[in-house]
Amino acid sequence: MVSILPHLRGFSRAELTDLFAGLGEPRFRADQLFRGLHGRRLMSFEEMTDLSKVLRERLNETAATATLRVESKYISEDGTRRFLMRTADGNPVETVFIPTENRDTICFSSQSGCPLKCDFCLTAKLGLLRNLTAGEIVEQITIVLNDVYGVGGETPHGTNLVAMGEGEPFLNFDNLIKALEIMSDEHGLHIVPGRVTVSTAGVVPKIHEFAKLERRPNLAISLSAPEDRLRDKLMPINKRWPIDELLSAAKVFERTLKRGERFTFEYVLLGGVNDTDEHAEQLAALLRRHDLRKVKINLIPHNPAEQLDYRPSTPERVRRFKQVLESLGVDAYIRTPRGRDIFAACGQLAAKQEPNLVQIAGL
Ligand code: SAH
Repeated sequence: MVSILPHLRGFSRAELTDLFAGLGEPRFRADQLFRGLHGRRLMSFEEMTDLSKVLRERLNETAATATLRVESKYISEDGTRRFLMRTADGNPVETVFIPTENRDTICFSSQSGCPLKCDFCLTAKLGLLRNLTAGEIVEQITIVLNDVYGVGGETPHGTNLVAMGEGEPFLNFDNLIKALEIMSDEHGLHIVPGRVTVSTAGVVPKIHEFAKLERRPNLAISLSAPEDRLRDKLMPINKRWPIDELLSAAKVFERTLKRGERFTFEYVLLGGVNDTDEHAEQLAALLRRHDLRKVKINLIPHNPAEQLDYRPSTPERVRRFKQVLESLGVDAYIRTPRGRDIFAACGQLAAKQEPNLVQIAGL
């Protein structure tokens, strides 16, 4: 039977305190539990030996600390790791660990599958299975941290988080924001908003809501086309919220940035589709028309897959696209694809189970 016990990893500190008050337990016990779950990254009540055995047993009957199961782990030749997990009700959750020389990034999922039908993305083929709970969001990151650094082990470079796995984070807004709040606690994972980036395909009302948050992460917007006709085809969400509305919302957001802060547009480069000099010129003109100044463009070479009708732009084309943007005063960066060989790169998360992919030993 599927567990429907409340997932305590998704409880805020205040909610844990209330829960414990209901059990007749003092506040400091709730703080101990919070530290056990998030600071020490323990996966079961049994390990929390600073709580009495009676309390641990009582908790175990009424609540859960972990609900995900790691089904497989894949390791890329570039060191990237993909974790394919399952929720208690059998839905896939994918999380990717991306090491670089001076920082480690975890790319997590906000939904199982995705309802948006971006034409160039493999995750779209899954459709939406369901929203992840705050507990499931926090748990997938905790599992990866424990796997990489050992249970409760220090993270040598700190951790950056990106909400760029399966799903559209802004269609699971409340759970996402709650999970991020829990993870920012200094007695817990202590991943502060400045180290987090949330990426949206353009859910305009939520960009407005996000702009009003006091402590909020960085924002990235997936654009991938400089005009509506093309964007309608590549990203059907554009029919609901077309480019002008999207960039007006981006401008409202930009006005809330502090000095020195910026935000990002992601642009997936599709060979022969959206990667000509004219597209780059149109893109620069679009940003100018909306008076967007505190922006940078991340150029993502397309990650191909059999079921997708697109091919990546050539490296020369990518470089040229960047040059054209820069000549027009727009900062652009080329992102190096990571973990392509294990279906871990952008747009490749589709719960792929491949016997011929290298699995991490020990599973
Ligand atoms: N739904 C959100 C979060 C996912 S982020 C969003 O769309 O922003 C995933 C990023 O990978 C997005 O910028 C998306 O445009 C990009 N992407 C999707 N498929 C891709 C592919 N096949 N190759 C490269 N990038 C891809």
